Amino acid sequence: MSRRGAQSVDDLVGRAREGDARAVARLISLVEDESPLLREVMAALVPHTGNAQVIGITGSPGVGKSTSTNALVTELRAQHKRVGVLAVDPSSPFSGGALLGDRVRMQDHALDREVYIRSMASRGHLGGLAWATPQALRVLDAAGCDVILVETVGVGQSEVEIAGMADTTMVLLAPGMGDGIQAAKAGILEIGDLYVINKADRDGADQVRRDLRSMLALGERREGAWRPPIVKTVAQTGEGVAEVVVEIDRHREHLESSGEMERRRTRRARDEIEAIAVTALRARWGDVHGHDDLDTLAEAVVSGAKDPYAAADELLQLVSG
Ligand code: GDP
Repeated sequence: MSRRGAQSVDDLVGRAREGDARAVARLISLVEDESPLLREVMAALVPHTGNAQVIGITGSPGVGKSTSTNALVTELRAQHKRVGVLAVDPSSPFSGGALLGDRVRMQDHALDREVYIRSMASRGHLGGLAWATPQALRVLDAAGCDVILVETVGVGQSEVEIAGMADTTMVLLAPGMGDGIQAAKAGILEIGDLYVINKADRDGADQVRRDLRSMLALGERREGAWRPPIVKTVAQTGEGVAEVVVEIDRHREHLESSGEMERRRTRRARDEIEAIAVTALRARWGDVHGHDDLDTLAEAVVSGAKDPYAAADELLQLVSG
């Protein structure tokens, strides 16, 4: 790497650690761009991480995730916490930091120097999200964020993936959306550390709570295990949001005292190492005009010229060579 590159990494990391929003944004752009500088960036950041509490926020579109995120930021700022917001869209390609959209949605906090808001989309290729999100989280962590809210835009498997990256996963439901059934289908009942029934100003919130309670009661829990609380909110007015923050803190205490925090973070690091390694391996498959070694091997398997085990061996030889 050039001397200038090294200097700019040190400079950027230094400024990000001082809380310079532009430097933070620049570092997250490096993550999105899969910059070759990332290796140095991560090495410089990692000693300054581990402080931030990462909260995953999931739920069906329209349930009130961004309104709730906004309300949570207000509550956390009232407690003088430095807050990061990472809106992850796993369904669209990298957007190059669609800041305008964020500013519109999070106008209340756009001018607050203690709040970093950033959206990020995965590259669309498998593992893009798993690879990029932890690195963006590390940037925000090193920038001194006390709490990082990771909001998923979109639905499906990605929500479960995000849950793996958070210390506390908050699942949002709302009346009138058939959410109880959706939640059970999406496997969301296994991932929630905290359930929020938003739009409690609407009819049916208590029914959603009852349904959810009985569904949660069906799951077996070990002695001393965390019992996910259910909180009702009206995100638009902020009603109930203080209680959400209390439950988030209570969950953190539970994670720390039970040793679960350590286990979750170790599992997270494992996933991250794996994602980086897999990305590096994929990069070694020679890509010629959108046709890579894996395509060639796949065609050989389809035509019957090779069996998949032999093809996999060949692929391993190619990438380790
Ligand atoms: P997201 O798609 O999950 O991020 O949902 P949004 O935060 O964009 O909210 C979807 C819609 O629900 C918006 O029109 C919000 O104004 C509205 N909304 C959010 N929270 C509440 C609430 O507590 N009560 C009511 N009545 N509407 C809400």
